Amino acid sequence: MEEEILDIGGKPIPYFRTSEFSKMMFEIEEIFKEVIDAPKDSKFALLTASGTGAMEAAVMNIFSEKDKVLVVNGGTFGDRFAKLCKIHQISYDEIKLSFGEKLTKDHLKKFNGRDYTGLLVNIHETSTGQLYDIELLSEFCRQNNMMFVVDAISSFLADEFSMKKYNVDCVILSSQKALALAPGLSFLFLSNRAYTKVLENEVKSMYFDLKDYFQNMERGQTPFTPAVSIVYQLYAKLKSIRENGVESYILKSRNLAQHFRDNVRSLVKIPDYPLSNALTPILVDNAFDIFLRLKEEGIYVTPSGGKLKDKLLRIGHIGNLTKKDNEVLISHLERMVK
Ligand SMILES: *Cc1c(COP(=O)(O)O)cnc(C)c1O
Repeated sequence: MEEEILDIGGKPIPYFRTSEFSKMMFEIEEIFKEVIDAPKDSKFALLTASGTGAMEAAVMNIFSEKDKVLVVNGGTFGDRFAKLCKIHQISYDEIKLSFGEKLTKDHLKKFNGRDYTGLLVNIHETSTGQLYDIELLSEFCRQNNMMFVVDAISSFLADEFSMKKYNVDCVILSSQKALALAPGLSFLFLSNRAYTKVLENEVKSMYFDLKDYFQNMERGQTPFTPAVSIVYQLYAKLKSIRENGVESYILKSRNLAQHFRDNVRSLVKIPDYPLSNALTPILVDNAFDIFLRLKEEGIYVTPSGGKLKDKLLRIGHIGNLTKKDNEVLISHLERMVK
């Protein structure tokens, strides 16, 4: 996190049912829509919830028992979408990818021309680092007239993205990845088509009823108390993004990723599926043990769960990191993998 953002986290929290706060919320909406290239008539909701909260809200509000959706499940986040469909009794089928398997046209073929109404994908499956081909998925949804729901939480600001260009019906973001804010906020952007479905849907939840969020947003407010402090952090961050241009953030991540990959390749294996700029997955023996040893040095890399626990580490390239940080990490890795 940047110093400026950390400072905001330490400030007192003002009362928020004010015209000043509403004005800030409108500006947040406006800049966000610019950054993700959202259609003018798209709807924005700010939730005080982790990213999974926004994933759940999307599933519950856009779909119902009348739908049948397809879930790209290539890791723990894809699996989460499948679980959400199950919990909310939405029929679904999964495109299951085993570790290392690249998503291609062939995976989609057998689902073509069937009666699916939506597709759920974490465009960057953070648990493995695979970046799916958004053009491929977008085209598939267009051909099949399916609602295209994209969790871009760990790709936003690290990879190129456009809601308009790819005809995305729902974009899901959250505060704690490349935005590099405190965890606690998540965001939804809905196309007019998805919004219409939300209006038709009867949602059995008070907190996750998006109609309420959209209605409140007309006056720049949220139905319930938001994480006010993080909203202020978000506002500061979005203003910097507007000033510096979103491309500069993507470029910074790409450069950090490239630098790390170039320098670590002789040391460890990197899977050969397409990668996001947000992180580099590395294959090492005793991965979890290395995570623990790095932690002792004050360096945090991300370990994996389940079968990948002792195989895969994920190295982040988002937020306030530098090439120097890469170099320090690589010098420790040199010692630890040998
Ligand atoms: C981090 C992340 C989430 C959100 O996880 P939470 O722990 O609920 O914030 C969702 N999807 C993806 C792809 C992520 O990387």
